[in-house]
Amino acid sequence: MTRPLTATIDIRAMRHNFSVVRSSVPNAKAWAVVKADAYGHGLERAVRAFSDADGLALIEIDHAIDLRKNGWRKPILLLEGFFNADELPELAEHDISFAIANDEQMAILEKAALSKPVDVHLKMNTGMNRLGYQPSGYRAAYERLSRIPSVKRISCMTHFANSEDPGHLKLPVTEQLRRFDMATEGLPGERNLSNSAGILLHPHIRTDWVRPGIMLYGGTPGGKTAEEFGLIPAMSLDSEIIQIQHIRKGDSVGYGSLFTAETDMAIGVVACGYADGYPRVAPEGTPVIVDGVRTRLVGRVSMDMLTVDLTPVRNAHIGSRVNLWGKELPIEEVAAAAGTVGYELMCALSSRPQIIEQD
Ligand SMILES: *Cc1c(COP(=O)(O)O)cnc(C)c1O
Repeated sequence: MTRPLTATIDIRAMRHNFSVVRSSVPNAKAWAVVKADAYGHGLERAVRAFSDADGLALIEIDHAIDLRKNGWRKPILLLEGFFNADELPELAEHDISFAIANDEQMAILEKAALSKPVDVHLKMNTGMNRLGYQPSGYRAAYERLSRIPSVKRISCMTHFANSEDPGHLKLPVTEQLRRFDMATEGLPGERNLSNSAGILLHPHIRTDWVRPGIMLYGGTPGGKTAEEFGLIPAMSLDSEIIQIQHIRKGDSVGYGSLFTAETDMAIGVVACGYADGYPRVAPEGTPVIVDGVRTRLVGRVSMDMLTVDLTPVRNAHIGSRVNLWGKELPIEEVAAAAGTVGYELMCALSSRPQIIEQD
């Protein structure tokens, strides 16, 4: 018998979620962001689901090259650009576009002898203070870039820090946009701006390209629930009860004896633990669905198992179905209980759950 832990990846849901990008920003071209193995959903599945996308964007250079070798012909964008000079010729060879975010990358590009011209996305730091040129130095960087003979096209790119929070006081989207628009005024080239929250909550931002990630996988970037945005969760993590313990008032459960029963009760043991990608930090009370009924995690999550309160679940038995997250339970609720975001849980799915593909 195989261990009853499965991650179901719903490719139709991914396709549907891509259509939400199209209906939200009908005039923008879309990079489907497939970094981190398509947020844990599998790069190859993402390629099938997002075949209508105008391009694929990711971080991993080796995966970008694999995409070309496997026949993806539309644009590919490396969001962090390249890391070493010796990577550049291969990027040019495979027509892979990349971000340039600093003078070190610029100098490498100036010196490189490339077989084919490249498309460059010049990144501006409009307040996120991660990658990119300051607005004050952007125009000079743009001019320097446009003097490099092997650069065939320059696009202007930035990334929002708070697009999921329209009322953000410290750094609202409007302020980042103001800086971006001022620094790029009159510069030719396409604009490459919004992530999922930008698309869903600020669909009127003028941009040639958008960069949806989390929404494609049916997660919400915040602001509203995925369902309210019309998104369908694409990943479902399911297991079964593999043992039931009837414990007495005062008995405790698991490592550290963290949970102590206040009454006699039934505990269900679920075949899923932190080695599968379930967060060990998830506290007592984290929601879990057993046979369609919402209950709660009790005791500490261990490597291969976790334990749940079976009090509200009638007729629970060995083999009862358990949904850890997915269509029955938004991943964001589990993430919030564990003090993180759905993004992290998706990306942290390990290779151990058996994958079931729905298409
Ligand atoms: C990951 C990433 C995105 C996608 O963000 P989501 O919030 O998942 O939509 C967009 N742009 C850049 C630069 C990224 O690194």
